Amino acid sequence: MPSYTAPVKDMQFVLHDVLDVSSTGIPGYDELDRDTTAAILDEAAKLAENVLAPLNPVGDAQGCTLENGVVRTPDGFLDAFNQMREGGWPALDCDPEYGGQGLPYLVSTAVGEMFSSANMAFNMYQGLTHGAYNAIHAHGSDEQKATYLPKMVSCEWGGTMNLTEPHCGTDLGLIKTKAEPQEDGTYKITGSKIWISAGEHDMVDNIIHLVLAKIPGGPEGVKGISLFIVPKFMVNQDGSLGDRNAVTCGGLEHKMGIHGNATCVMNYDGATGFLVGEAHKGMRAMFTMMNEARLGVGLQGYAQGAVAYQNALGFAKDRLQGRDVTGAKNPEGPADSIMVHPDVRRNLMDQKALTEGARAFVFWGASLIDQAHRSGDKDAEGVISLLTPVIKGFLTDKGFETAVLAQQTLGGSGFTREWGLEQFVRDARITMIYEGTNGIQSLDLVGRKLAQDGGKHVMAFFDMVKRFIAEHKGQDEAFDAQFLEPLKAASKDLQQAGMFFMQNGMKNPNEALSGSYDFMHLFGHVCLGLMWARMAVAAKAALDGDGADRAFLNAKIATGRYYMARQLPATRTHLARIESGAETVMALDVESF
Ligand SMILES: Cc1cc2nc3c(=O)[nH]c(=O)nc-3n(C[C@H](O)[C@H](O)[C@H](O)COP(=O)(O)OP(=O)(O)OC[C@H]3O[C@@H](n4cnc5c(N)ncnc54)[C@H](O)[C@@H]3O)c2cc1C
Repeated sequence: MPSYTAPVKDMQFVLHDVLDVSSTGIPGYDELDRDTTAAILDEAAKLAENVLAPLNPVGDAQGCTLENGVVRTPDGFLDAFNQMREGGWPALDCDPEYGGQGLPYLVSTAVGEMFSSANMAFNMYQGLTHGAYNAIHAHGSDEQKATYLPKMVSCEWGGTMNLTEPHCGTDLGLIKTKAEPQEDGTYKITGSKIWISAGEHDMVDNIIHLVLAKIPGGPEGVKGISLFIVPKFMVNQDGSLGDRNAVTCGGLEHKMGIHGNATCVMNYDGATGFLVGEAHKGMRAMFTMMNEARLGVGLQGYAQGAVAYQNALGFAKDRLQGRDVTGAKNPEGPADSIMVHPDVRRNLMDQKALTEGARAFVFWGASLIDQAHRSGDKDAEGVISLLTPVIKGFLTDKGFETAVLAQQTLGGSGFTREWGLEQFVRDARITMIYEGTNGIQSLDLVGRKLAQDGGKHVMAFFDMVKRFIAEHKGQDEAFDAQFLEPLKAASKDLQQAGMFFMQNGMKNPNEALSGSYDFMHLFGHVCLGLMWARMAVAAKAALDGDGADRAFLNAKIATGRYYMARQLPATRTHLARIESGAETVMALDVESF
């Protein structure tokens, strides 16, 4: 059975040594000293390690069941959900006006990594509720907020996001669900939505569905989409639950992973809905929450890699096979541990470098979101908007890759159920698909984000890298060679790729779109390169402190060196692919496939 140990020490290092959160000046961050974050993370770790992680294989084996319209979650889920609610975890970063604790989003991001690593399928129930909370909080009327948010903050009620229909997922302009206006100002919602996560289940008293639908007579395509609240049970004036609304779960999806999360067909048969925000502006409302939702999926992706890596490492230390070619390390035993083999080390170093780099990247991204929201910083908002598709697309690809690498470390045991690695691989896979496939993330990056506000944000990113290099150059020759030079070269590759798009994409958009996926990965590597250089600077500085954890800090620097030497050079390959353009990609006519 797999185990999970929350990486509190590493999180503290990122929060305090790398990001130096309490000195950033972001409102609310001054309270985030080491002791405060340690207390929160230690408490969250207990729930993650002792309650959620042991339920992960249970949820996978049992899955959810649908009987007479009621979805039953796996054994133990309700009890764990109660513990999560009682601990106030879903309310961490919610608005105090509605019962939230008002902590920065960064704090709930760190806790979210633990809960996702421990049990991703379980954590999605509150994750989806949080997404729906965000949408109502940002776009709902005061009355809607007062009616729904307090119970969603406490997770007494759940929330869902209903976009996808049988004939459309990416191209939401095609949706058919209709919303007919009624004389009392409500709408009758009719249509079918598929693959709705947490669409129906037995852990909450009510479920607040957020539904995209079209008001007849509105504009064609995405411009005619509106957003509606459709509660499972109507809510009376006094807040008590009223009649059952005409929304039902028509079936559960049988799927590759996240079995513990109910993926539902949701049928709306003239259900009563309430418009959120303006009519026909539903897509815009959805998009304002996209940064957080996509960062959350990027987090899910690397969180699966993180727990897979831990288990691979534990296995590798115990497994005795073969001998160290430079001399036996366990001469008394029948063989050495597989840790002695360079190929196993390569595998583990890849996992470690990707996981810790991803953690720093996501925490930095979360701090940019806080900076944008809490300080009203438009530049921070621009940079996180640019980085969001990179966080979602690159980190979920790398999270899955890490889970597969971890599986490989176990050899045949990685393929068996007993060790649990195969579940991490299966669960990680969905993160590359939902919340916009990774291909769509790369189109968003190249087609929209690069040119957003006249390219201002990508220029700001390059400036940031340049300033970092200038600030740290010339102090330590080895550091320059091992970190700054590779970062500079990778950043140059990224700029060159951007130039290629500018020079060729206008004439023929396929020239840019054929390279968009490589560009997203190239960008992701530069971000992780920057993160590793920042972590190395922080680790070097911390080594001088009293009582420094030298083993941890030296390992940090060594892992960074590995990333720069062995992973970052991938930017060259990505650039070469991008510069080869569209010709070979589009050479075949459809019949020739
Ligand atoms: C387990 C699970 C949970 C889900 N949860 C939810 C949920 O809670 N709420 C919800 O609304 N939806 C949910 N979804 C749906 C999910 O968001 C969609 O599956 C996803 O957005 C992709 O849509 P699609 O499956 O229709 O693929 P399609 O849109 O049919 O795309 C098929 C392929 O074509 C590519 N493609 C499509 N258009 C383009 C284009 N213009 N350019 C380049 N490539 C393109 C895509 O990248 C993809 O590889 C869930 C799905 C699953 C499997």
